[in-house]
Amino acid sequence: MSGTNNSKFTFNQSVQYYFDKASALTEHSEGLLSQIKACNSVIRMRFPVKVKGEYHTLEAYRAQHSHHKTPCKGGIRYSEGVDQDEVIALASLMTYKCAIVDVPFGGAKGGIKINPKKYTTGQLQRITRRYTTELIKKNFIGPAIDVPAPDYGTGAREMSWILDTFVTFNPGMIDAYGCVTGKPVTQSGIRGRVEATGRGVFFGVREAVSVAEDMKALGLTTGIEGKRIVVQGLGNVGFHSAKIFQENGAHVIGVAEYEGAIYDPTGKGFDIDALFEHRTHTGSILNFPGAKNIENSSEALELDCDILIPAAIERVITAENAPRIKAKIIAEAANGPTTPEAEEILLERGIMVLPDVYLNAGGVTVSYFEWLKNLSHVRFGRMSKRHEEMVQRRFVDAIEQNTGKKLRPEERNLIIQGGSEVDIVRSGLEDTMMGAYQDIHATWKTYNGVRDLRTAAFVVAINKVATSYIELGIFP
Ligand code: NAD
Repeated sequence: MSGTNNSKFTFNQSVQYYFDKASALTEHSEGLLSQIKACNSVIRMRFPVKVKGEYHTLEAYRAQHSHHKTPCKGGIRYSEGVDQDEVIALASLMTYKCAIVDVPFGGAKGGIKINPKKYTTGQLQRITRRYTTELIKKNFIGPAIDVPAPDYGTGAREMSWILDTFVTFNPGMIDAYGCVTGKPVTQSGIRGRVEATGRGVFFGVREAVSVAEDMKALGLTTGIEGKRIVVQGLGNVGFHSAKIFQENGAHVIGVAEYEGAIYDPTGKGFDIDALFEHRTHTGSILNFPGAKNIENSSEALELDCDILIPAAIERVITAENAPRIKAKIIAEAANGPTTPEAEEILLERGIMVLPDVYLNAGGVTVSYFEWLKNLSHVRFGRMSKRHEEMVQRRFVDAIEQNTGKKLRPEERNLIIQGGSEVDIVRSGLEDTMMGAYQDIHATWKTYNGVRDLRTAAFVVAINKVATSYIELGIFP
């Protein structure tokens, strides 16, 4: 999906460029670094699908970038832009992403070169099942082998079809439900997965804007409250990011989609649920009450705002538009939205870039929780919630008796309630995103030669993957 951009790098070359920039600052041997960088396995598939009596031959891929930890993990994308270069780039990003957030998987990615909007639900189901069968035949899917998840153009529905196909071909495999994540909750999915990437983006940005020294350098105040946000893409990641920012006091003043963009001249920000509803009814975000239309959607990237969140596709911030970007922070919710040439310009201009390889790791983090749930065959909190409540109730009772003071019922309920699945997932995600930011930030500030957050994130990832290879005895 490289699109028209003026970068001299393909998407995969740009990931390799970031790798080389960071790896040069580490002390690992050339052999070890070249093993970490290389994509271990790729399969390319061609299979037929019958549409209105005619057969179409589809092109599809699955790349497993690294097996330093297994299973491999990564989404499946349905888009006309899918090609081998893109799938390998995305699989590599998954390896580094998992390492950054301490998710014990190797990176993978899959894709089918289709525009899903051109197919009926029945046709999409057949395509998905056929793709899954190809993965099964090649031993490229399984709870201990390679675990797909949703990505651009796919969602819980496709993950259910993958699950059903895998279970059909593997009767009696007790952990079969761990073969794919991002499933509906009713099919052994996990509460909190749908919005996990968007929520992770929020936690990551919240960490970044809490550092007073960094915000002072950008001319911003600390905290999310009042920040002006522009989001590109109102799909899974963009919608949930926008909604969670709005819930936490930020103003989403611009939104860009395929059909055009809108901005809020009052600066108060859109009601994201109402905007989503408007798009569902009219088929477009344009003409949203109170908003001004922008015909050329990509111009929204240049709106005056504090935080720009590209949450659609790769390579949208280029050397051409980077000089005109007014945001102080680019929060990369999408994979690969900034070309290397654009990043140079942004850094030169003092703009902070929160890199994809860290910022959108919330999805894989909660996918990991879902996989753990599937292997343990029990919902998080199911066995502990009541017990926690009983212990906390006794504790509060003892305090009330000893002080002679009663808590208000709502205070009491807040203290005694045990953790439900969604509470546990959200707190695990929050802790993961906070911890990973602190690692990257410390590397940015203290590691010799590191000048930006993306290089810091790659250094953190490379060092962790290298440790794995060394400890496993694969490299001395
Ligand atoms: P999605 O298909 O749900 O949504 C993408 C949205 O972007 C769609 O609404 C589409 O119309 C819009 N879009 C496409 N091209 C556009 C353009 N040129 N301008 C404006 N809008 C455009 O996909 P998603 O799952 O939200 O993924 C978005 C990005 O986030 C991708 O880069 C993906 O790799 C990345 N990502 C997704 C997840 C996840 O959990 N879904 C996790 C990590 C990273």
